Amino acid sequence: MDFSHLLKKRLFSPGPTEIPLRSQFAAVDNNPYHRTQAFYSIIMNCLEFLKGFFGTETMPVILTASGTGAMEAALVNLTNPGTRVLMISGGRFGDRWIKMAQAYACETTVVAVPWGQSLSPDELLQQLKKNSGIQAVSFQAVETSTGAYFPVAELARTVRQNSDALVIVDALSSLLCHEMNMDAWGIDCVFAASQKGFGAGAGLSFIALSERARSRLSVRPRFYFNLVEEMQAQSTGKTAWTPGTQSILTLQASLKALSAIGREELYKFHRQMAYAVRAALAAMGIEPFVKDQYAFSVTPFKVPSDIAGEKLKATLQEKYSVTFAGGQDHLKGKVLRLAHLGFVDPFDLLAAIAALELSLKGHGYTKALGLGTNAMMQNFPMWGEK
Ligand SMILES: *Cc1c(COP(=O)(O)O)cnc(C)c1O
Repeated sequence: MDFSHLLKKRLFSPGPTEIPLRSQFAAVDNNPYHRTQAFYSIIMNCLEFLKGFFGTETMPVILTASGTGAMEAALVNLTNPGTRVLMISGGRFGDRWIKMAQAYACETTVVAVPWGQSLSPDELLQQLKKNSGIQAVSFQAVETSTGAYFPVAELARTVRQNSDALVIVDALSSLLCHEMNMDAWGIDCVFAASQKGFGAGAGLSFIALSERARSRLSVRPRFYFNLVEEMQAQSTGKTAWTPGTQSILTLQASLKALSAIGREELYKFHRQMAYAVRAALAAMGIEPFVKDQYAFSVTPFKVPSDIAGEKLKATLQEKYSVTFAGGQDHLKGKVLRLAHLGFVDPFDLLAAIAALELSLKGHGYTKALGLGTNAMMQNFPMWGEK
């Protein structure tokens, strides 16, 4: 019997993520006009919330562009042709940014971190010593393709104490799950996007520049991504261009909900969910892709070698209506990614782990059912003793 059409869709991709119903309802408005005081107030309200989550006193701006647009905005506004950028890459998103910087004729120094690993402040220091005259350092806080966390505070401090370079951080899949204190940590540019931890539709990104970054703006030609113009406009809630109005309504509702939970609680919650997922995988004999410095937002894991990862993903999807993300580039077929950012909760994850156990069994994996779900329940404090 096939009941799959009766199952709820359960989404565990590292963006897009589930949008809470209440936020979806908030967007039920007849195409709001953005040149109204009412809409300016909504923008201002979103910016206030974002400011808090970025850990900055400067106002971020909202761009109507996916996260890749924010990556480009950072490069276009903060680098010139020939700017020496030290780019740390530990996976697909780092690689994408390098390609982009090269397309913009930056002089890139690539620090290639093996996929699944992170970079220590000491290693970064060696790189800074070896490559003099670096004007900007960029990295992903969480490399979403591998699930590695880069120690943002320590890396930023290393750059600031040992060079004059700008620190540019792609926080797309870390914000709201890992601490971010842009000002206190001396970061010059941070960006994030709506479809990751924010529980809103895709198509918006958020970017903030430090005072230092604002004093070093590029001379590049730019128009849509002119951040100075955008900051000027958004200081009163006006956007330079037509924003993704419907998505902004969703975003505002989700930001309200996230803000009511509070930063510290969110970090603890996501850390604990990552821990519980790892405990579940361990009990099932499944190895997470990252050993030590792992993300609290997404857990990629190795598919047992005699099972085709893409087929396992298809079974999860088709039979159990559960969406995991696949591995990227050379990890395709070898790794699946289970994301727990945004509004995913432990009961959702219990369903994900149960579906994974069932799917693995369907593919001939012989471990008993219930090992993963059991471990998960034992390792989540709201259920267990700990
Ligand atoms: C998703 C993601 C991006 C790209 O964002 P899009 O919204 O898909 O353009 C960039 N960096 C990281 C770390 C991401 O997770």
